[in-house]
Amino acid sequence: MRIAVFAGDGIGPEVTAEAVRVLEALQIDGLELVEGDVGGAAYRKHGHPLPAATLEIARSSDAILFGAVGDFSLDHLERALRPEQAVLGLRKELGLFANLRPATVFKGLEDLSTLRPEVAGKIDLLIVRELNGDVYFGEKGTRTLEDGRRQGWDMMSYAEDEVRRIAHAGFKAAQGRCGKLCSVDKANVLETSQLWRDVVIEVSAEYPDVELTHMYVDNAAMQLVKNPGAFDVIVTGNLFGDILSDQASMCVGSIGLLASASLAEGTFGLYEPIHGSAPDIAGKGLANPMATILSAAMLLRHSFGLEAEAARIEAAVAAALADGIKGGDLGGSAGTKEIGDAVLARL
Ligand code: ATP
Ligand code: MG
Repeated sequence: MRIAVFAGDGIGPEVTAEAVRVLEALQIDGLELVEGDVGGAAYRKHGHPLPAATLEIARSSDAILFGAVGDFSLDHLERALRPEQAVLGLRKELGLFANLRPATVFKGLEDLSTLRPEVAGKIDLLIVRELNGDVYFGEKGTRTLEDGRRQGWDMMSYAEDEVRRIAHAGFKAAQGRCGKLCSVDKANVLETSQLWRDVVIEVSAEYPDVELTHMYVDNAAMQLVKNPGAFDVIVTGNLFGDILSDQASMCVGSIGLLASASLAEGTFGLYEPIHGSAPDIAGKGLANPMATILSAAMLLRHSFGLEAEAARIEAAVAAALADGIKGGDLGGSAGTKEIGDAVLARL
């Protein structure tokens, strides 16, 4: 069991250090942690945001715990050398095609949500977003038409195998939760979405224990605000998932608590907080490490099948929050290390 630890830039190293302390405290047999450089930190040391040595560590590991990348002072670099390219490179090189983002409101934090507390308190959902296809990766371009008007285009496309594998990821996630999967598309208008819906229905035959529903994306955006408690797992394409997962995170309201996973075929995955490098608070010991600690719990669950250990971490975080241990992002005053200590004490 080998975990690559890529802390990255800004608050990445601070929050990752606390997650590592939590992992080590579990004393899991045969667990090995290997550090690697990514992002701006890697560029400064090796001249590239994703050096070959880092990729090699990733390939020889079973999972990656990732902090954050981003560094404004490197904005002048050509795109391929910018810190953010590390994430895109890892996605591509490791075939990470499924992005999982749980959104849950912890007890006592209902008023952080942009929604009414009684609605917010019911949110406990997981968004499974396809990462490698859709309009982001289709043929694209700009041109000037004969009559002089400029035109831009991006082709939206999905091949059936791409839909099938993300559908499987969605159904499997639903099996591990409440057994409800909502597939989100725009099948009334888009050919891509009609194929998406057909393939999801085909795949559903293999999961008779999961209740499948379909929803148009515009309605899903509305229901996420109106009745988010009705959702268990949402599976959707790259573009719709990009938008809905940010919307869901605001419904929850706390950027320092939200974890994510990017999964490949099999059990390999990259786990990271959804927040960025937060340069405004980097190096000050103020960042909330809970999102990264919860990402480590997702890692143990998905890549190693360690459900009990994952649940222990999640319960310790929930207990710390219930006891009023809150970082600045939650209107509290607890620092990075103090929050890590509080979680460890409740483990
Ligand atoms: P990126 O481009 O890297 O995604 P961003 O501009 O989207 O960065 P974040 O880094 O996600 O921004 O930070 C957004 C705001 O939330 C900042 O004010 C930051 O200080 C705050 N923030 C982010 N993560 C945390 C955290 N773990 N604890 C406390 N505050 C945080
Ligand atoms: Mg951001």
